Amino acid sequence: MNLASYASHQHEFPAARWRADFPLLQRSVRGMPLAYLDNAATTQKPQPVIDSEARYYTEINANIHRGVHWLSEQATLAHEAARERVRAFINARETCEIIFTRGTTEAINLVAQSYGRAKLGPGDEVLISGLEHHSNIVPWQMVCQQTGAVLKVAPIDDTGTVRMDEFRRLLGPRTRLVAVSHVSNALGTINPLAEMIALARAQGVPVLVDGAQAVAHTPVDVQAMDCDFYAFSGHKLYAPTGIGVLYGKRTLLDAMPPWLGGGDMIRTVSFEGSTWNDLPYKFEAGTPNIAGAIALGAAIEYLGRVGLQAVAAYEQELLTYGSEALAAVPGLRMIGTAAHKAGILSFVIDGLHAHDIGTVLDTDGIAIRAGHHCAMPVMEFFGVAATARASLAFYNTREDLDRLVQALRKAVEMFA
Ligand code: PLP
Repeated sequence: MNLASYASHQHEFPAARWRADFPLLQRSVRGMPLAYLDNAATTQKPQPVIDSEARYYTEINANIHRGVHWLSEQATLAHEAARERVRAFINARETCEIIFTRGTTEAINLVAQSYGRAKLGPGDEVLISGLEHHSNIVPWQMVCQQTGAVLKVAPIDDTGTVRMDEFRRLLGPRTRLVAVSHVSNALGTINPLAEMIALARAQGVPVLVDGAQAVAHTPVDVQAMDCDFYAFSGHKLYAPTGIGVLYGKRTLLDAMPPWLGGGDMIRTVSFEGSTWNDLPYKFEAGTPNIAGAIALGAAIEYLGRVGLQAVAAYEQELLTYGSEALAAVPGLRMIGTAAHKAGILSFVIDGLHAHDIGTVLDTDGIAIRAGHHCAMPVMEFFGVAATARASLAFYNTREDLDRLVQALRKAVEMFA
């Protein structure tokens, strides 16, 4: 190896080395090595995350916060250490601004039912964008129905980019909340959050960011971003299902009423009435997903070793490589061609149904998603019932994409 190629080798992202940490990626599917390209739906889990969850159950399983015995103390310490890891991960100011939820969906519903229900009245408006996941549409429709508020939608253009002229126009004197995704799961579009948040801030309107598709792919700093709420799911971040996070600014969270009632979220209870616990426990009724939170902490620690800056750069490289390779497949049309995109390749092929594409790829051990991706309005906008979607993670390689393209060419020859 000469010096120049050694130097370039040093800068290469060692995807294969990290991939070895993921037991499931070592298995074969339908007799073929697995090419897992469904990471926007959920990511695979590295051994340290699996070990962390197993260690909790084999060594310190107990209920938290209420126990006086050693196990309960250990479980509480580990759970709260995980909260601190999440805080540092997104650079929240205080640990009490990190609320554990079941995932992004629950986090957004929490804001809709607590903040939204308290603050919205007839004629008030909630502004979202045209590329949202159902999780960032339906909770707002529900709270609008309950309060008489109105849902406004800033439309997208043909590339799948939110039209900022419309966003600006719709951000009006009755807007009480803006709720937008960081990255679209159906299109890969990265929203111009800095601009959106600055516009909302200028009018004193709080902003919720749905970060489900962002946190595993790019560093997030909620203070620098200056959002008011940020929601994400552990399972898209190499952690288990059933654990997620709502970040909220303390001043807002303090003023919000609890949503779910029950154990742990109270300070006192009598039949005449109850008083609420401090943050973040006010929003964490009942026994939480203790093992999940601890494993989320382990996933964050693991991702820290991989390095999110390097992940972001590598996934952009894969995205460019995959986009170019897919463009050469006969009859393929990319859905979502925004200038700023994350590693999501959504497409349709003339004469082939998205589900058939998914099924054909599956026989080659290639896992992608086919459907509306919980973003029916996006499908409607592009005039398609469904798309096939390959979504990337740092353990994917060019070889995975080569296999995808090869299998698609085969499918086109067979069916189109
Ligand atoms: N928001 C976006 C952009 C998503 O991609 C998803 C899941 O695909 C969600 C919200 C909902 O996440 P969860 O099902 O983990 O609550």
